[in-house]
Amino acid sequence: MGLDELGDWRRSHYSSEINPALDGSDVTIFGWIEDIRDLGRIKFLTLRDREGLIQITAKEGRASPQVLGKLELLGRQYVIGVRGRVKAVKEAPRGVEVEPSEIKILGIAKHPLPIDPTGRVPAEIDVRLDNRVLDLRGPIPSAIFKMRHVVVGEIRNFLAEEGFLEVHTPKIISSATEGGAALFAMEFFKRKAYLAQSPELYKEQLSSVFEKVFEIGTYFRAEESHTRRHLNEFISVDVEEAFVGMEDVMDVQERLILRVADRVARSCRTELELLGVKAPAPRAPFRRYSYDEILEELKGLGFDLEWGEDIPTPAYRELGKLHRGEYYFIINWPTKAKPFYIKPIPNDPDRCYSFDFMYEWIEISSGGARVDDKDLLVRRLVEQGLDPSDFQHFLRAFDFGMPPHAGFGMGLDRLMMVLTGMENIREVVLFPRDRFRLEP
Ligand code: ATP
Ligand code: MG
Repeated sequence: MGLDELGDWRRSHYSSEINPALDGSDVTIFGWIEDIRDLGRIKFLTLRDREGLIQITAKEGRASPQVLGKLELLGRQYVIGVRGRVKAVKEAPRGVEVEPSEIKILGIAKHPLPIDPTGRVPAEIDVRLDNRVLDLRGPIPSAIFKMRHVVVGEIRNFLAEEGFLEVHTPKIISSATEGGAALFAMEFFKRKAYLAQSPELYKEQLSSVFEKVFEIGTYFRAEESHTRRHLNEFISVDVEEAFVGMEDVMDVQERLILRVADRVARSCRTELELLGVKAPAPRAPFRRYSYDEILEELKGLGFDLEWGEDIPTPAYRELGKLHRGEYYFIINWPTKAKPFYIKPIPNDPDRCYSFDFMYEWIEISSGGARVDDKDLLVRRLVEQGLDPSDFQHFLRAFDFGMPPHAGFGMGLDRLMMVLTGMENIREVVLFPRDRFRLEP
């Protein structure tokens, strides 16, 4: 079947803009066929565009033979253009339909389709991800990614308004941020290079220039663990600020969440409803627990963890039940559980100025005050088994006048999981990358 040419057809309305008040107007609409119902003398098409659905109704006797002929050729997910007249009809969805006077077939879909994007026939996530573009046309993914757009926009506005300068740091780097673990190596002409796992060392240096910086970027981690909250490629929102300490950037994190939650609650009502989640209404101030307090809580839950250890996932799961619906901070971690660049507390050097920002059992961000003294930094590198000569460019910035500084890195995908109520991070990423998935 030959396709029709678009020619001079241009959209006059999105589906959502067509309402009973337009009764009698002529419109040009485009979209994908979600459904076809053929009742013999009357045929119904449901057309989906990015804004929603509209019913197209063709009646024998009223529609032209050309239109009726075209209708015979159509299948679900075909791309069509329709010119026609709006009719206010009580029985139609939203009380309105379009009577077609002309139809163009602009793209076809091969049948049988591998999944039903309406979600009425549920499919396994792997099958959905294998056919992701089709899957994304469904109402749930569509709601998730519209919300993601709103969230990213609001984060950017918020940070810019707070005086942070947006920067872009390199993603191809010559040495590890925090040691060799979890880095993807690559060939860079005749040298070895790595994909950045975080902008940490660059944003710290830039705090000695622009004082307040942020970056929304893609990072890579060669973690082998296959979980529902880790990917090998993810987006991080990184913030770094000079002349402040840990508490100040925790306040930035808190204000950021309040601002995003407020915006989502106001701008994403339809999406929240579709996703079946309540509008976020976090209550500030967020509680701040010390690592030691959390260890006590965990003891009460039956987890006897040794002081200094990281907290294992099953323990977090239980902790999440205790902190249901709560955003909270865990502060003052053992120095040895955190990276070399986190500042030890001077009169209690086994603990450091670091925080994890949590929602229930999920870590959303990590941050803290940074070591700003070069000698201490070199000692910390050695203590963590790293070779200071691998960090000479980073260390040199400390010879050029380094202010005290603090910051955090927040996983955007993790935040989206929380806001959308999704259990699997893959749901909130367009084309997720994990150990078993490099395509599509
Ligand atoms: P986790 O303990 O959850 O593995 P992490 O402590 O290793 O995370 P950080 O180095 O603190 O991660 O990175 C800062 C933030 O980036 C995390 O709080 C998280 O939101 C996000 N993040 C880190 N690794 C991943 C990943 N593999 N996939 C998705 N998001 C990630
Ligand atoms: Mg962390």
